Amino acid sequence: MILPKGKEFTPAQLTEVTAIVGEFGCRIQPIIGALRSIYAIVGDERHELMINRLEGLDYIDRVDRIQSPFKLMDVRSDLASHKIRLGGATLGEQLFVIAGQCTIDPKNPNYFYETAAAVKEAGADALRGGVWKPRTNPYSFQGDDKSLEILMEASRRTGLPVDAEVMDEHQLRLALDAGVHTIQVGARNALNYSLLQQIGRAIAGRDTAVLLKRSLHMGPIAEFISAAEYIVSFGNPNVILCPRGTSPAPDGYRNHPDECIVPLLKERTWAPVVVDPSHSVGRASYVPAAALAAVAYGADGLCLECHIAPSHGIGDDPKQAVTPTALKDLLVKARALRRLVRGG
Ligand code: PEP
Ligand code: MN
Repeated sequence: MILPKGKEFTPAQLTEVTAIVGEFGCRIQPIIGALRSIYAIVGDERHELMINRLEGLDYIDRVDRIQSPFKLMDVRSDLASHKIRLGGATLGEQLFVIAGQCTIDPKNPNYFYETAAAVKEAGADALRGGVWKPRTNPYSFQGDDKSLEILMEASRRTGLPVDAEVMDEHQLRLALDAGVHTIQVGARNALNYSLLQQIGRAIAGRDTAVLLKRSLHMGPIAEFISAAEYIVSFGNPNVILCPRGTSPAPDGYRNHPDECIVPLLKERTWAPVVVDPSHSVGRASYVPAAALAAVAYGADGLCLECHIAPSHGIGDDPKQAVTPTALKDLLVKARALRRLVRGG
């Protein structure tokens, strides 16, 4: 990882550095940050001669070598000071709340518009809405391209940034062209490395963020962080980690709640952690306790399913969406708890 003395390399400097690492079979991936840029050496960066030649250049501050399987996401990485901004908020500064329907019903767009206005009023910072849905049952509603327009209209009406899951390159393209602010990678695709690479490539050079869910069966913490590294290695460091429960579940819950991994993630990576208690417990009545537990464990934010009229919802909404009134009450408590445990 190369740190320039200035904010970023000039084109001539980048050409010179690229030529040097190229001699050792490596390439340079610029990671353009708001405050400064860093340049990842992709390939085997242990060549002593290569490091010496780079450090000899007067426009280079230093070359860091982090022995980690996820050198960009590592808590010791120079990216650790990177801040993700969404809408008016900076992740890590206040509790960041994404809320909205599991699934947008293209036949009833008004439910989504009303949900959007209500989650904003309840204090959410971003709006979620499922356009395309990964359904266990192939005969269940799979989503609809038309819902993308409803999502973006709700964003315009509320001024909130929006989050939607994509499962393939076609959906990714549509979502980016429409201006979706946060691309969600769902639990089922969290280890789909070619999708992670496609997303990384597509969002490079844009402000777009990614909400990376934890896989249903994801084991070691390193596996989760490495999935994020796949995306960030293409140059956009805006990846948010989202534990959402794993399988198998205790009887009565949808998944095994895993908000307890927040401190483990924080020890190893700088990425903000936004916990999804809705898919974790899978029942609206259990969501507030799981959400508060996530805050107590140090989560930077919450991703919650909320519907203006859950019984009229589709997808997960009838079971696990909280009402806007419950959301508002929960967010008052969550923010108070955060002040108590983190002082801000
Ligand atoms: C969702 O967010 O509605 C969803 C399907 O999430 P997950 O991928 O965590 O199951
Ligand atoms: Mn859902």
